[in-house]
Amino acid sequence: MKRTCELCSDLSDIYQFNSPDDYINAINTLKSKVNSNTFTIVEPDEDFQGDMTELLELPDSPPYPDIMFYKYKCTYCLITYNIFLDWYHGKGEILRNN
Ligand SMILES: [Zn+2]
Repeated sequence: MKRTCELCSDLSDIYQFNSPDDYINAINTLKSKVNSNTFTIVEPDEDFQGDMTELLELPDSPPYPDIMFYKYKCTYCLITYNIFLDWYHGKGEILRNN
C-alpha cells in the first residue's frame, strides 16, 4: 500500500471525529482542497454519494445535511477516500480505498 502523501495526510483515514468542530473542520478542509484542485470529487456512483456541486454549496458552518458521503481523490498521490458524515447522529469516518 502506498504511503499517504503530505497533501492528503490531514484528511485521511487517521482523521479523528471527536467533536462538532472536527466535522466542521473536515468539511471545510475538503471544500478548500477541492477548490485548490488538491482533491477532486469522484463522480457519484451510489445513491448517497454527493457530487462536487453539492459539496461546494455546503455552508461553512452548521446546519448541514443529516448525511454526507463524498468520494475524493488526491490529485498528487491518487489515493481515493470515502468520507462519511452522519451529522445527525454525530458519527463520521474516512476510509481509504487504495
Ligand atoms: Zn495524497
